[in-house]
Amino acid sequence: MSTVPTTCDLLIHSGDVIDGTGVARAHLDVAVTGDRIVAVGDHLDLRIDATSKIDASGLIVAPGFIDAHTHDDRAVLSGPDMTPKVSQGVTSVVTGNCGASLAPFAGREPPPPMNLLGDASWYRFPTMREYMEAVEASPPALNLAPLVGHTALRAATMDDVYRAATAAEIARMETLLDEALEAGCIGMSTGLAYPPAVEAPTDEVVTLASRLGARGGIYATHMRDEGTGILDSVRETLEIGERAGVPVVISHHKCSGRESWGLSRETLATIAHARAKQSVNLDVYPYVASSTVLLVDWIAGAERVLVTWSASHPELNGRDFEGIRAEWGCSVEEAVERLSPAGAIYFKMDEEDLQRILRFQDAMIGSDGLPHDTFPHPRLWGTFPRVLGHYCRELGLFPLEEAVHRMTGVTARVFGLTGRGTIRTGGLADIVLFDPDRITDEADFSAPTRQARGIYQVIVNGKQVWRGGEWTGARPGRILRREQAED
Ligand SMILES: [Zn+2]
Repeated sequence: MSTVPTTCDLLIHSGDVIDGTGVARAHLDVAVTGDRIVAVGDHLDLRIDATSKIDASGLIVAPGFIDAHTHDDRAVLSGPDMTPKVSQGVTSVVTGNCGASLAPFAGREPPPPMNLLGDASWYRFPTMREYMEAVEASPPALNLAPLVGHTALRAATMDDVYRAATAAEIARMETLLDEALEAGCIGMSTGLAYPPAVEAPTDEVVTLASRLGARGGIYATHMRDEGTGILDSVRETLEIGERAGVPVVISHHKCSGRESWGLSRETLATIAHARAKQSVNLDVYPYVASSTVLLVDWIAGAERVLVTWSASHPELNGRDFEGIRAEWGCSVEEAVERLSPAGAIYFKMDEEDLQRILRFQDAMIGSDGLPHDTFPHPRLWGTFPRVLGHYCRELGLFPLEEAVHRMTGVTARVFGLTGRGTIRTGGLADIVLFDPDRITDEADFSAPTRQARGIYQVIVNGKQVWRGGEWTGARPGRILRREQAED
């Protein structure tokens, strides 16, 4: 037992602590001084003199949630309050997913899916170090752990990204990747399903991913095919991980399109089998619709498509794509052409697959929210409360301790976020207080930006950032670097 201090800055008392490791909750008090948890124990309120106190009676005290999959690279700069995330209890986000990171790339129009983060005016960082310095000069309310995007590396080094890279281009990408890893990036992501990166052969990815191995980086991938070819894509992902000697994370695992429904049985069995010899994990969001750029190929097989943003027709944001096409009396191709660049929500998944993936051992929760969409997918505002409320409390998919574990302890371990993801003495004080009986996602496909219910307080690095249903104004967020991880 560590010795209990006699004083602390903040004492959270009378709550039920779910510590993020998966073990059963316990009625404990948590003492915080500076950015650290300095004691966790029984009746600390009788032993410690606290500068301020929070009565957590009837509430769960848990590690702040870690969003395993985000596109918040620009949001942390343009909306430092990070309300869509903090309001859900999120205290750290993994950025730079799907091959799209805000650095290293500057000065030109970004290819998809980088255009989901913004147009050329937002791409100002020729190196990852410059991006990180900009974030640290104007920090957000929560922490971020950046990945560097493969598509960004390609866009920065190739005159035409719609082809395989040459040896010379790959060498330039390696230099930029090394720089990003030295700056502290936790790994690299790919978006192999998207038009530019789909041209990258497996070997190109293996060469780059091999740079991660020596530095303990991770490889996260939006796989080449999430439809009928998904098993081949899982095998390619495992091959990349094995040949490059890196842990892999399969991003937003799903079976997209009716013909692929049910394939999660095989993908998950393959992943479970591979775990005997390599590190492989996945993240998932709790919805049966996906969201990304509007592309002709991805409309095929969707039960329904909603337009989330359109540069040329902003008045149509939130409308049904088929309704727009019918009104215009044109083909799908022409309607896409007229709306582009644009984003969409695609209803293409099956609830059974979703629940099977959510239940999979150590499946991490990641929102994949798109913070700059005018009419976003509700996952941006609702992911974490939806897992805790709908899937855990209402459907009983897993115990609350397990749900929290997949949002905290597992994610910190997989991404190497030392000192985060658990409530323990000596750990960093990222903490959420929520009501297990009330927590509910309020955002849906018709009102996608409604704030969730049941989150009472959110603390980042020991500072209260969310209280009484609003941002406190505090911006204690940090960049969580791989090599200078705090412990
Ligand atoms: Zn993706």
